[in-house]
Amino acid sequence: MSNKRFTLALHGGAGAKPGHDYSVEIAHMRDLIEAGRDRLATGASALDVAVETVVALEASGLYIAGKGASPNADGEYELDASLMDGASLKAGSVAALQGFKSPILAARAVMDRTPHVMLAGQGAIDFAGEQGLERVEDPEAWFTRAGAFEDNHPPDALPTGTVGCVVRDAEGRLAAATSTAGVFGKLPGRVGDSPIIGAGAWADGHAAVSCTGQGEYFIRTAVAAQIAHRLRFGGENLEAAARAAIQGVAELGGHGGLVAVDREGNVAMPFASSGLKRAALLPDGTILAEAF
Ligand code: ASP
Repeated sequence: MSNKRFTLALHGGAGAKPGHDYSVEIAHMRDLIEAGRDRLATGASALDVAVETVVALEASGLYIAGKGASPNADGEYELDASLMDGASLKAGSVAALQGFKSPILAARAVMDRTPHVMLAGQGAIDFAGEQGLERVEDPEAWFTRAGAFEDNHPPDALPTGTVGCVVRDAEGRLAAATSTAGVFGKLPGRVGDSPIIGAGAWADGHAAVSCTGQGEYFIRTAVAAQIAHRLRFGGENLEAAARAAIQGVAELGGHGGLVAVDREGNVAMPFASSGLKRAALLPDGTILAEAF
């Protein structure tokens, strides 16, 4: 395989409702893979394409992230996001961010413009404001899932939704980005896996991973870093490593899925949940886009 082979995969969250028509999401995810492919063909970096793709997923309002966010148990919108650049091992993250349209752009600013990896709560809000990031003026008017908590929250489960993207660029660099509103009805201040480097996102020289699902289980098993480490230290292939990590989540009683790419450009998209909205550029140049 040529070292020039670039690829990308994305997800729109674990958990697809049986019987629901996801044709809009599937068409949207396909369009984003095409757009990412075209950017990579012109030499764009893995990090830029991962961020651009997640910005578009956030802005669409089709997934439980960015504009599509659902509120916490107090009716507040607290959003989490992170990204990692495999070539430099730089990372950025925001947790419990309120009042901004694109948490992933806030995470990128943390990486690019501070000596830190993660900012949370009021510090993240103040920083995003200083960076001039676009604000949400009226949450009830902006967020599309204002009523989702009431509609969809079963008492015994934590329904989920997140977006993410992993990329291998033409120079072999890997990057991952993840953004979420977290789980429906979460307690105020609850932080899931999505902004935690090594749990909900990871990229190094071996693999890039973006996760979705019940974040508590992904934190407890360090899913994203685990996959890269299985490749690096265990000699496993990407598919086996990704499946084993998801299996570990399932064995604890959790559910979810992920998208991953390795330095050869292989893609894995396993899930242990009722479905995973996902899309990828396949080695033969075709695009896979599915919800189940
Ligand atoms: N993993 C996210 C969280 O726990 C939710 C999701 O992926 O849907 O915050």
